[in-house]
Formats: sequence, structure tokens, C-alpha cells
Amino acid sequence: MRATARLSIAYSFWLALVLAVLLVWRARSSRPNIIIILVDALRRDHVGCYGYHRDITPSIDDLARSSIIFDTAIAQATSTKMSVGSLFSSLYPSVHTAIENQGHGMTGDVLPSNVRTLAEVLRDHGYMTIGVSGNPHVSPVFGFDQGFMLFKCVDYFGDQASVNADLLTDLALKSVLSNPGRPYFLYLHYMNTHAPYALPPPYDSMFVDTRKGSPTEAAILSQWMKVCPYLATGDRRTDVVAEDVPPIIDRYDGTIAYTDACVGRLLATLEGENKLRNTIIVLLADHGEEFLEHGNIGHVGTLYDELIRIPMILRMPQRRHAGRRILDIVEVVDLFPTILEYAGVGFDADDICGRSLMGLIKDGTPVRSDAYSEHYQFARSLRTVRHKYIYPRVSSVKEQLFDLESDPRECGNIASVHADLVGHYKAMVEGRAADLDEMRNRLGIAGESVAIGEGTREILRALGYIN
Ligand SMILES: [Zn+2]
Repeated sequence: MRATARLSIAYSFWLALVLAVLLVWRARSSRPNIIIILVDALRRDHVGCYGYHRDITPSIDDLARSSIIFDTAIAQATSTKMSVGSLFSSLYPSVHTAIENQGHGMTGDVLPSNVRTLAEVLRDHGYMTIGVSGNPHVSPVFGFDQGFMLFKCVDYFGDQASVNADLLTDLALKSVLSNPGRPYFLYLHYMNTHAPYALPPPYDSMFVDTRKGSPTEAAILSQWMKVCPYLATGDRRTDVVAEDVPPIIDRYDGTIAYTDACVGRLLATLEGENKLRNTIIVLLADHGEEFLEHGNIGHVGTLYDELIRIPMILRMPQRRHAGRRILDIVEVVDLFPTILEYAGVGFDADDICGRSLMGLIKDGTPVRSDAYSEHYQFARSLRTVRHKYIYPRVSSVKEQLFDLESDPRECGNIASVHADLVGHYKAMVEGRAADLDEMRNRLGIAGESVAIGEGTREILRALGYIN
């Protein structure tokens, strides 16, 4: 071969290589940043953009005005570990298997290492992945740091519990602002809205009834501990009565106002530092909180809408589709494929339970007609726009059916007078459960648990997770 031909081939090779590198660099650099803000136990109906009468969420409402609001977003579980496991993996709890703690907190389920998390996928596609959490379950102890290049926990415990949201915000800002330019994924898990509702001044006196005073953290926690046995027995044991509830809600609302201020500070600072350009922002809860609507307080007891119907707000880059309010049912597991599709990152749809919402967002293409949730080993639920069906797995839970159109508060169980509907939904839940067992086996996921150290156990106890 003549020298000039060889030179020409070499030149072409290097040109192609440079072009390929440039294309990969361009694809990566144009990928959106992704922020997921999770506010633990934030009730949908205590957020302004969902109609709350108190003006306690100005920052979230401001975000919502430039976002898509999901009106019927359903969490896959009513406890943190199960629900966040579904958010991270796009798998229902019975597939990802991070469900509960055993033996009074001596051991706890972990998110198994072969579960593929959103952070792992994004890290493998060039993202800087940052996790900041105040919840002891969403921590390396239980495998929730999988895929995060930087994962920081600030336990919601001890002297600084009341300013936990500020500490988390500081850490998140520091981590993102020191990120050297490549796209980032930030997961930020706020905790002050979780019992015992620790909060700093002036929020601690924001709604205090001067005649009755505010319930102390200890009082709230003692009631929480009484509810815990429901985990094991299906029983309901709180002795909170209706007149106790308003001061508890006042305190809970103070924690929402405090957390909202931290959300506002986070976003304003990132905006000021030019870190929100081309950024997807999701704000959601892992579950709600109940205040005696069905006999319990907290969020361990049931599958009613005050727990599984959550706030979920999605702001797209360039504020696309801002102001849309989507009434269709969506699930938390749908966020994983939605984010990846928008970011141009491939995924295997057969290996996840969620469905991308991009078609629904762009042109209203329906995604699903029902949402599926799980309550430990006690019950499953299927929620359509019209009905809620609760499928018992233990004798202490009743089979229940509610007509949400005429009975949105789920007060009247109509299961006994609608055998046809009950049969229909029961077959659907049993079919879904069988499919999920098959999926778990196909993915090779086996439940894993870990011994919990005394330090973590003390924190879990202080938050009412174990007794
Ligand atoms: Zn939670």
C-alpha cells in the first residue's frame, strides 16, 4: 500500500474516533440534571396546589406552577422502606423485597444488591449521583446507597433533629455545587414531617393553640409506639381521640412549613448558581399520614387514600407542559422509566414494573387504568379512578371495596353487596401477585436481611419504627 493511502486510512480512523468521542460527549453533556425531592409522610391534601386551606407550602406551590401536577399519584406502599425501594427500582415491594424489620429491629430487610436502581443506571451513563437522606431506612445500612457516588445521611435524631431539613439542604447544596460540570442526579429525602415532628422556631409555634398548647415530641411518639403493634397483629391500639387530633395536625403542619422553606432555599440557591438549567425536578412523598380517618395515626396501619394517594409534581426542563394537571392514575414506579426516557438512557421495560409517562405528558396517551399497592404481608390494594379494593392476606384485615366517586373518604365498605366487582378485582390482585412472584424469580431476586447495630436500632426506636 502506498504511503499516502496508509496516511489517508489513519487520518480517517482518527477523525472517526474524534467524532465518536464528540458525539458521546455531546449526548452526555446535553442530558438533563435530575433532582428528586422526597418529603417523608407528606399528605397530598396538606399541600397548597392540592387544595389545602393553610398557606404552608409557598415554595412547593411555586414549583408546581411551573410543573406538571399529578392528581392521582399512588405510592406502592405505606412505609418508607417499601415505598422508596419501589421509587429507586421501579419494582413493587414483593419484587424488590425490602419490606420490614424483624425481631424488634434486630435484623432488617435490605434492598438486594442485584436490584438495579435508578442511581446505578444513571451513574453508568455518566451522571454524578448524589444521595442525601434523613431517614435511617434510606441509608447504606439497608442497601439504599446503591449507585450513589456520594451518599450522606443525617440522622433525624438527637439534639439536631429539629433542624434536620436545614442540615440535609446544606449537604445537598454543597455536593451539587462542588460537582464538576457533568450532569448530576440528586436524591434528597426530608424527614421532619415524620413523627415525632421535630421542628425549630418559629415553626414550632406557628399554629399552636394557646389554650391547649402543642403536643410534645414525646407524646406524639408514645402514641406512635402504640400503633406499631398493628405491624404484627393487625390490631389498632392508639388511644388518641378526635379532640387530640387538631393540635397534632398543627404541629405536623409546622413541619411542612419548615420543610417547604428548605425546599425553597435549595431551589433558589441552585437557580442562583445556574445549576437548574436543563433539569428535571420531581417532588413527591413516599406515603401520607393518617389522623384517625380510619382509626389510626401515623402511616403503618392501612391502605386508604390518606396514605397511598400522594403529592407528585414533575418539572420538565424549560418548564415544558407547565400548568398541566393530569387526572389519570399514575404510580411511583412510573418515575424511573419516565426519567430515563427523557434523559435518553435505555432500559429494559420487561425488568421493571413502571411505565413511562412521557406519552401521557405529551399527548394524553393512557398509561394504566389501576394502581397496585402493598401493605407488608397483611394486604394488597387495587385502586382505579372509581374504586378501591383491599385484598386481605391475614384474617385480621377485612376484604373491602369502596366507591370513590360517592365515597371518596372510604367510609362505607360495599364489598358485601357487590360480589361481581369483588370477584373481578380479587382475580386481578391474585393474577398480579402471581406475575410479580414470577418476575422476582426471573430477576433472581432473593430477600436479604442484615443485622442492625444498636446505634441504628436506637434511631429506629426513636422514630417509632420498632418498639
Ligand atoms: Zn416514610
